[in-house]
Amino acid sequence: MLHLKTLSEMADDLAEKRYSATELVTHFLNRIQNHDSELNAFITVTKEQALSTAKKADQDRMAGTAHKLAGIPIAQKDIFCTKGIKTTCGSFMLDNFIAPYDATLIERCNQAGLATLGKTNMDEFAMGSSNENSYYGPVRNPWDVTRVPGGSSGGSAAAVAARLAPIATGTDTGGSIRQPAALCNLTGLKPTYGRISRYGMIAYASSLDQGGLFGLSAEDLALVLQITAGFDEKDSTSVDHAVPDYSKTLHDSLQGVRIGIPKEYFTAGLNPQIAHCIHEAIKVYEKLGATIKDISLPHSDLSIPAYYVIAPAECSSNLSRYDGIRYGHRCENPVDLSDLYRRSRAEGFGSEVKRRIMIGTYALSAGYYDAYYLKAQQIRQLIRQDFVEAFKEVDFILGPTTPDTAFKLGEKTNDPISMYLSDIYTISVNLAGLPAISAPAGFSDNLPVGMQLIGSDFSEAKLLNIIHQFQQHTDWHKRMPEGV
Ligand code: GLN
Repeated sequence: MLHLKTLSEMADDLAEKRYSATELVTHFLNRIQNHDSELNAFITVTKEQALSTAKKADQDRMAGTAHKLAGIPIAQKDIFCTKGIKTTCGSFMLDNFIAPYDATLIERCNQAGLATLGKTNMDEFAMGSSNENSYYGPVRNPWDVTRVPGGSSGGSAAAVAARLAPIATGTDTGGSIRQPAALCNLTGLKPTYGRISRYGMIAYASSLDQGGLFGLSAEDLALVLQITAGFDEKDSTSVDHAVPDYSKTLHDSLQGVRIGIPKEYFTAGLNPQIAHCIHEAIKVYEKLGATIKDISLPHSDLSIPAYYVIAPAECSSNLSRYDGIRYGHRCENPVDLSDLYRRSRAEGFGSEVKRRIMIGTYALSAGYYDAYYLKAQQIRQLIRQDFVEAFKEVDFILGPTTPDTAFKLGEKTNDPISMYLSDIYTISVNLAGLPAISAPAGFSDNLPVGMQLIGSDFSEAKLLNIIHQFQQHTDWHKRMPEGV
């Protein structure tokens, strides 16, 4: 039952040689083989690479040169380029793309000896909140296979929730780590913009995209954040800010920590049972010595409209490179250049991606730029300013991660606006560039409920600390889907 252990326990066990990395990796590969046909969490399983990494980890450990995490299995979202391995970004456009280099995040995982089990399913080009926009089919939520796992990093979330991997990477442009973490009972971290390199992470909306992690606890996330965070000269938006020891401060007391509760996050659209769970979480924090304060983030209601101008605008520019020549699928027998562009893009992209490209192209076109794009950028500043003001009064902001629990597959596919509203509490964090964590906070009708904690720039260590303290006093994060 190796999969029931936490990543931290696995690291200790490997150090004590209670079992080998090869046994550990084989165990997870077997679980993927037995359970993934139902969940569809993986697009590619990298069995041979995982086993050879494990073998090397075992040899290094014998020689006394292994990194603490060497041989620990990890699932990588298929948005990160992996050298020699198919990297699809959930799109037919990249169905046959073998990346010629590793993303920095992948390179750092490899350097520590983490064993990549495979590449996880995702919404096409990370556009979505349910993982139903993947060319490779939807992912199912291990808590109820008739429901979505959330998106866009749905494959990574389902893989960790079903214990097909102890940890997984994700990316979060508007909520794609925190929302699936909430729907699958995981701890999901979206770091500060610039904390983890974007080099080799396929771009959706570059000023919002941020890589991060899914795990079973803050303690596990701290270990992997340690090796992945930090400046990268290959990413011009990577920030040269010291990387603290994330595990060291997990046990700090919360006495005197000020937590703000934004009134805008508890309005009519919120499932009352989720509100109840968040109020219970607030009581836990009060017991742990935190001071709770009501606050306001007055421009919260503008985050979705601003995001759905800025993100499509940036994606329309980023995705212009998939033209059948420089990158991506090329149509058969084009009659001329224009035909090649048109048909390659028409065949290569799915309908949500096309919708975003059209919205973005429109918003950026001459005559509309000032009315839409510029306006949205101004709103973005107001949203950031709301947080700056709030952080003068409080250290962290607590609220629900999502307005509701996991919805049924197909329930929102014909209603993009209702799908977009799944990210109502997460999107403003990306617009402001801040770090945030979603962590398990209870259940509503047997479905997981997530709480979101938002911190100021580069407060990851403290965020992990306040989640870890919560997890020392609650056991929501230890609950597992039936059959695991
Ligand atoms: N659901 C949002 C979108 O569709 C956010 C996606 C993400 O964070 N990658 O754009």
